[in-house]
Parts: sequence; C-alpha cells; structure tokens
Amino acid sequence: MVYEKDRLFQKIPKVDRLLETEAITSALKAYPKALMMKAIHEVLDYLRSAIKKGSLDDKDKLALDVVSAQVIRRVEELDRPSLRPVINATGVVVHTNLGRSLMAESVLDKFRPLSGRYTNLEYNLEEGRRGSRYVHVQEILKELTGAEDAMVVNNNAAAVLICLDTLAKGREVVVSRGQLVEIGGSFRIPEVMRKSGAKMVEVGTTNKTHLRDYEEVIGPDTAMLLKVHCSNFQIVGFTEDVETADLVSLGRRYGIPVMEDLGSGCFVDFSKYGLTKEPTVQEVLAQGVDLVSFSGDKLLGGPQAGIILGRKQLVEAVRKNQLNRALRIDKLTLLALEHTLRLYRDEKVAVREIPTLRMICQSYQELRRKAQRLLRRIGRLNTDRFSVSVSDGGSKVGGGALPLLELPTRVLCLQPGELTAHEMERWLRAYQPPIIGRVEKDILILDVRTIQEDELGTVAKAVQELAGKRDL
Ligand SMILES: *Cc1c(COP(=O)(O)O)cnc(C)c1O
Repeated sequence: MVYEKDRLFQKIPKVDRLLETEAITSALKAYPKALMMKAIHEVLDYLRSAIKKGSLDDKDKLALDVVSAQVIRRVEELDRPSLRPVINATGVVVHTNLGRSLMAESVLDKFRPLSGRYTNLEYNLEEGRRGSRYVHVQEILKELTGAEDAMVVNNNAAAVLICLDTLAKGREVVVSRGQLVEIGGSFRIPEVMRKSGAKMVEVGTTNKTHLRDYEEVIGPDTAMLLKVHCSNFQIVGFTEDVETADLVSLGRRYGIPVMEDLGSGCFVDFSKYGLTKEPTVQEVLAQGVDLVSFSGDKLLGGPQAGIILGRKQLVEAVRKNQLNRALRIDKLTLLALEHTLRLYRDEKVAVREIPTLRMICQSYQELRRKAQRLLRRIGRLNTDRFSVSVSDGGSKVGGGALPLLELPTRVLCLQPGELTAHEMERWLRAYQPPIIGRVEKDILILDVRTIQEDELGTVAKAVQELAGKRDL
C-alpha cells in the first residue's frame, strides 16, 4: 500500500513538464506567468494530499494532459474577477445584496467619453479657478424637486450622519419610538445618532406617537425634530403617527428645524402606475420640511449616493462641514447621478429608461408575455429531475420601500422531481453567470420581473442544462 502511494507520488507531473505542454504554453499567452505558477502549485498540492488521503489511486488521473487541463481550469478560476454579473430572478427589484439599481443604458454611454478624460469636476471654467464638485447636480436637483438648495454625499447613511453632525452635535434630536429603524443590519438610527454626537430624545411609544409627545420634550437644547421613514416594516393595528405637516408647524412655532430621512425617496408618484401611494420628494418638500435625505440607488434608480435637499442656510452649513471630505461623492458616481437625474426631466422617459422604474412599472400583461417567451425558449424537457410551469406570483420593490406591497407578476416554477428545490437553487447559483432564484414551499421560483430581456436566453439554457446534465 505504502509502496503504491510512493509510485503514485512519482507519477505526479513535474512543473517543468507541465509548462511545456501545448495547453499551458498557449494559455500563457492569456494569463500572467505568476498566476499560472500559482495554479500549478495548487493543483499539485491538491494531488499530493489526495494521494496521501488515499482518495486518488488511479494513475491515469496523473497523466500530463489530465493534470494540465486541471491547471487550466484552476487558472481560469483564479483569473475570474471577484465582482461579476449575476441574474436576479428573485423578483426583488431594489435588491441590496445584488447591487440595488441598474444604471440606465444612456447613463452607461456617458462613462466612456467622461471617465477616461479629465473633467471640470472641481474646476470653475468661467473663472479659471477651483470650483465645487457639488454644482454638477445642484441645479438639476433644485429644478426637479423645488428645493432651495441641494447637496450630495456617499450614501444616505452619510447624509443622515452629516446632517446630524452639522445641526445637532452635542444637542438634542427628537424622534418617535416607532421610527427607530435598523436597515440591513449596518444602519441603525440610534447608533448613527450616537456617532454624530447628537443626543437622541425618544418620544411616544412603539405604536403611537402624538404631536404633544414632541412638544413636551422641546427645550433650549432641542436642535432638530427628526422623522424617519419606516422603510422595511410597517406597524399595523392600533397606531398613530404625526403627519409631516403637523411636525413642520410645531417646528416653526419653536424655531426648530425638521428633518425627514426618506430612505428611498422617489420623484415619481407610483400610485399612477397602480402602486400604493408614497409621498414623493417634491411633496415632502412642499409641506415645508427643512431638510430631507434619501438614497440615490433605491427608488431613484441611480448610483449609490445620499441626497440632501432643503433650506439654503441649512444645506450650506452641511456643505461646509469638514466631515464632507470623508463622506464625499466620487466623480464616477457624480457622473452617473447627473445623467440619471437628467432623465427625470420627462417622467415618461424616466419610467422607460431607468431600469428600476421600468421593472416596478412593468404591467402584468407584459410580464405574462415575458414568461411565455422564457417558457418557449426552454422548450419541452424530457426529464424526471423536475417539471416546469408558469404561475402568478408576487414581486417586491425592495430596498426598504413599500415593505408589504406585492407586485403581481409571473414566475417560472421548477417543481422538484429527482432534484430538490434547494439542489436546483444551488446549481443555478453556481452557473456562469449565477442565477439567483428563491425557494418557496419547496418550489424553486424564478420571477421574470427582474430578469432582463437579454438574459432570458441564458436562463432558458441553464434550465435545459439542469434537465440534461449528467453530473450535478
Ligand atoms: C436605506 C435607508 C438608509 C440608508 O441609506 P443608504 O443609502 O443605504 O446608506 C437610511 N435611512 C432609511 C430610512 C433607509 O431606508
């Protein structure tokens, strides 16, 4: 036995021999030598330990062409970028783990001409001196929303942080107990408040907060009344919340600014498209809120950013805060944001071209046809592994917007046969490109709403392969 293992060890190809093989020589035209060496050493280490464990006892597996093929597969894996496209078949449109919003085609077209060149990012061309990066979206944000002033930072968490730091450091911020939200585990209102150095004064109860609760705690140290959008949950039943307009008039009476963290923040009234009414950014500002903040990559459908709108004097103070240097928006983001915002000048164009809006507003009829197209492409499958059907389902907006809303959709259902739903889910997730579905009541669901038109062929091919492939 030991003797046999020794013989196997001797059969392991030498590095030099591998490097001379046709396969590896030609692959070296595409991959750096160092990466190839890493792949070779990993494969050889793997073979040695397999022999040692006794799991490799066939000398054919050590043949030069077999091992070099293994090396090529490994070098391909090592060379694959970490961040890569996946197909979102979950039906969650603003899926934080899958990158939230997709850039519009017309926005993508701006990357090449602009990101490979110098720009007037912080250069005032009229005056020939240093300018501000914020001017590039300031005017269009004012134009679209009616705000007095506008400012952008890295994301909405940063927006909330810098507003609190600017206006309420060492002072008190009043917030309802029903709005102390946590978003995605890493953003909790009480913790952001602590980081900013503001003192949180909670009022009301989990389910009910009245205007008088706010009024009772207002004192000389009160710096702000804060309203936070209950993005990802809803309290139902015996509840009461203070209307924004009432909070604004209370703030006015005491000369205290009112801020609203809108979370998603949208410019389009989705109730026109059959969805639940959510106040738009314009409507919130029209009620007199002094500052609002929201994300660029949730319902707005742009890049990751935090947008701050409101009264000139307050926004200006935020802009001057030194913390900005650490939270500032990147130039590529700014370019994507400006061009996404430009699409909102015509709402019809925005809904047609911004993928997030387009997916949310897709009609049931369109989704029906899309599901039919997918089914047709899959064709008839002769397999006992699973069966395919199409049925009604519910998509989610995601990104902490409209948490209870289910958008009527059509979904592809893979019903387990020889394969369980979880086995199919795992296989599709390992596919190139990965296809992310969801398992519901032991059925694998692929929602066509979030599958892009040009991805239907890939999904169909994957399902066909899943039905026919030998080894899973
Ligand atoms: C999503 C959200 C945030 C955080 O926004 P990011 O852009 O992810 O930083 C803050 N507040 C509310 C209410 C949110 O929904």
